[in-house]
Amino acid sequence: MSRILGAKCRLCRRESMKLFLKGARCATAKCAIERRQSVPGMHQERRRKQEGYVIQLREKQRMKRLYGVLEGPFVRILDRAGREAGNTSENLLRLLECRLDNVVTRMGFAPSHAAARALVGHGHVQVNGHRVDVASYVVRAGDEVRIASPKVKEQVEGWVKSARDRGAIPGWVEVSDGELKGTVRMLPTRDDISIPVDENLVVTYYSK
Ligand code: SF4
Repeated sequence: MSRILGAKCRLCRRESMKLFLKGARCATAKCAIERRQSVPGMHQERRRKQEGYVIQLREKQRMKRLYGVLEGPFVRILDRAGREAGNTSENLLRLLECRLDNVVTRMGFAPSHAAARALVGHGHVQVNGHRVDVASYVVRAGDEVRIASPKVKEQVEGWVKSARDRGAIPGWVEVSDGELKGTVRMLPTRDDISIPVDENLVVTYYSK
């Protein structure tokens, strides 16, 4: 299981926005974006004006980081999005949103994609009653996702409560009361996805 290494807050500062990569800490005053607005690195004042290719590159990097996906898997998802019927950029967003690690996060079973990948990778997650330990697994409408392991029950219940209190569970998934079980009610459309990325610019970046 590959994952993004290094200082996560630095990635947020690079994108000048919260990417919510550290779970609960992201909602506190300890968040690096709250404390420090500057982008990382030297010579910040000499940073070139963002236009054309640079904007597309930044959108691509932001999208990858928001979903915690590395370049290789990201290109494979884009390739699949291009082969599916319909609009490539919408397909790309839907495929990223329907990755199992993202669905676990959206259902509130984990506070970040990194935590969701750990739950999936350690075999704590079932899809339709079968253990799935592949974070890139793409769920379908009607699929049931369940936290099956009692070892993490207490911790996950706390995360779900926090997500409910924040109103962070989107309408395209449904989480059962009193059970660590959720259902994918329908595949998300662009209106259901609130990430701050222009997916058309991402597709344009790779089309050159
Ligand atoms: Fe980003 Fe979270 Fe770090 Fe804030 S605390 S900079 S949102 S990873």
